[in-house]
Formats: sequence, structure tokens, C-alpha cells
Amino acid sequence: MPNWLSNFVLPKIRAVVSRKEVPDNLWKQCPSCEQTLFLRDLVADLMVCRHCGHHFRIGSAERFGMLFDNATFEKIELPKTAIDPLRFRDRKRYTERLRESQAALGAGSEAVTVARGQIGGIAAVVAAFDFAFMGGSMGVAVGAALVAASRLAVERQAALIVIPSSGGARMQEGILSLMQMPRTIIAADLVKEARLPYIVVLTDPTTGGVAASFAAIGDIAIAEPGAVVGFAGARVIEETIHEKLPEGFQRAEYLLEHGMVDMVVKRGDLAATLARILRLLCQPAIASVPMVAHP
Ligand SMILES: [Zn+2]
Repeated sequence: MPNWLSNFVLPKIRAVVSRKEVPDNLWKQCPSCEQTLFLRDLVADLMVCRHCGHHFRIGSAERFGMLFDNATFEKIELPKTAIDPLRFRDRKRYTERLRESQAALGAGSEAVTVARGQIGGIAAVVAAFDFAFMGGSMGVAVGAALVAASRLAVERQAALIVIPSSGGARMQEGILSLMQMPRTIIAADLVKEARLPYIVVLTDPTTGGVAASFAAIGDIAIAEPGAVVGFAGARVIEETIHEKLPEGFQRAEYLLEHGMVDMVVKRGDLAATLARILRLLCQPAIASVPMVAHP
């Protein structure tokens, strides 16, 4: 029997499992409510805990799959930029950190990926961050990617949707990373000047130089539940002003209450919400049914 099991049954199981690309660790613990979640359920729930609603961090590939109509989109090739312009080294060489992130996320990847397609039948360009790539930090390549995304949106007369998930500027690029702040603002302005929608979906976390640049100037600012959005961390602020900060400070819901974001939208409702907003902005005649029929 053991032979039959190990020689026949196990390979079959492995073949089925690998075909569906179910990861080895089939369970994941929710960091918020500590419930154990079946990974397949979690994936089906768009990586949102079914017990407490905690939104796990997800990458650009998942974002594109869930936002574009019929999960159909085209990834855009992004401009090549100088690698390691300052020859930076902390505990590790910057080039080594880049190599490690690219090994995990695919050759040529960076902290932001851009794709185009349709959302609710409206042409849209989406720039989505991968926090897994060096904390989603913004260096020259990210700035260049956002400029490319803006130009593409203008060229295609499409809406631009940016989904940050970032710790802020990439310190390994020093002042060059800080220069991406005004650069990405100008990029977003290209879209605004063309009278096209520029929507920001703030996800956990959106902090530092990213929170203080393009992410802050969306025509419409949407946030995912529980997302931390802010310039400096709560601990740094507390230590600076010597005061206890209120409960939920810098969380999406707190920011909504204080007028910093327009809406907090659950991940499962995000695609439909974006589709509705884009239709209202781009095809108001079709999206809004008149209350009174005029002769
Ligand atoms: Zn939970």
C-alpha cells in the first residue's frame, strides 16, 4: 500500500495541485483577527479576511485582474532608466536589492507596473504598485513609469488610475528619488489638463514622499478599508509633538471622517465603483437617467 500511495497517488495529487498553482502553505493567519484562513477562500475573497474584513496587501497582477473588464488588459513596456546612479550601498548593495526584488517579481519588474484596458467599458490606464518590490518605494524608474502612464492616458483619451502601496521615496536613490515628487505631480497634471479623470486608490500603506505627491492630488481619492495613509509615521509624530494621537489616526476611515479622502471602498466593490465613477465622468449622458423627461 505505501508504494501505491507514494508511487501513484502522491504524484497525481502533486500534478493536480501544481496545475492549479495552489501555493504550498495552504493556510494563512489573519494578522488582524488571528483567524486561520484557507488560502483558496482568501484568494476567492480577493485577499480580504472573511471574518474581520482585513485587506491583505496585494500586488499589481492581482489588481489588474480584478479591475479591468473581463480581466483583459495589456501591460505597457516602461522606459529603461539608469540603474543605481549613486552606486549606493547600505547593509547591501542597491543593485543586489534590485536583483532580489526582480527575482521575486519577475525580470525587469519595478515597484510600479502599468497596464491599459477598459473599466466599465471606459478606456483606462492603471498604474499599480507592488509593495513587495522594495516597499513600493519611488525611485527614478517609478517616476518615469508614472510619466509614461500619464502620457499614454492622454494619447488614448483614457482615465488614469493610480494605486499606490508604498513606504515613500527610495532612499537608495537619494535626492533623485525626491525629485520624483514634483515630477509625478506634473505627470498627473498632464491628465488633468487634458480633462481626463485622474483617480487615486489609496491602499495600505501610502506614506512618505508618495503620500505627499501624486497620491494626494487625485480628482477623486478612494481608500481601501483600514489602509494607513499619511506622510510621517504615527510614532514619529507622537514623539515630535509629545501628544497621544487619536484612535485610528491615519487610517482610511479616519481620513474619510476628516475630509482627506472621498470614499472608503471595500476591495470587492472597487471595480464596480470605479466603473460607475468613470461612466459618470466620461459618459454622463448615458450614466445618468434624467428625472424628468423634457419635450
Ligand atoms: Zn481577520
